[in-house]
Amino acid sequence: MSDHATGSCLCGAVTYDVNQAIGGVIACHCTDCQKAAGAGASHNVVVKAENVQVTAGEPKTYAKVVDSGRTLIRTFCGDCGSPLFSQRKETPEMIVIKAGSLDDKAGLSLVMDIWTDSAVGWIADDPGVEKHPGNRPVPKS
Ligand SMILES: [Zn+2]
Ligand SMILES: [Zn+2]
Repeated sequence: MSDHATGSCLCGAVTYDVNQAIGGVIACHCTDCQKAAGAGASHNVVVKAENVQVTAGEPKTYAKVVDSGRTLIRTFCGDCGSPLFSQRKETPEMIVIKAGSLDDKAGLSLVMDIWTDSAVGWIADDPGVEKHPGNRPVPKS
């Protein structure tokens, strides 16, 4: 896989570059993501924040204190509303890219489902994918 990727919102006002290889997709079935995505789940890839650069436009942000007590900042296009990133205030070194906003999605595959306790019954469920009823366990590093 390439170590560079690009993405944008639906209207194209906001574009961004990612200067690292993009790993597997994590599907988040939490109720906040369902609302923010207007969908059954959000599909995300985690990268280092230092490798992401907004190359056009000025996206808006919305911050919410979530059940864990942490603050999640969601970044989206203020013109068309497309979700682009999310980031924990407490761990600004990591950024979560909304996988649907990437320009080239061909090489991506689903590796994990999280917050499956609130998953809806009307989206595809691959039993071979690692699952967690709540948050993603702390990654080993
Ligand atoms: Zn837009
Ligand atoms: Zn979520």
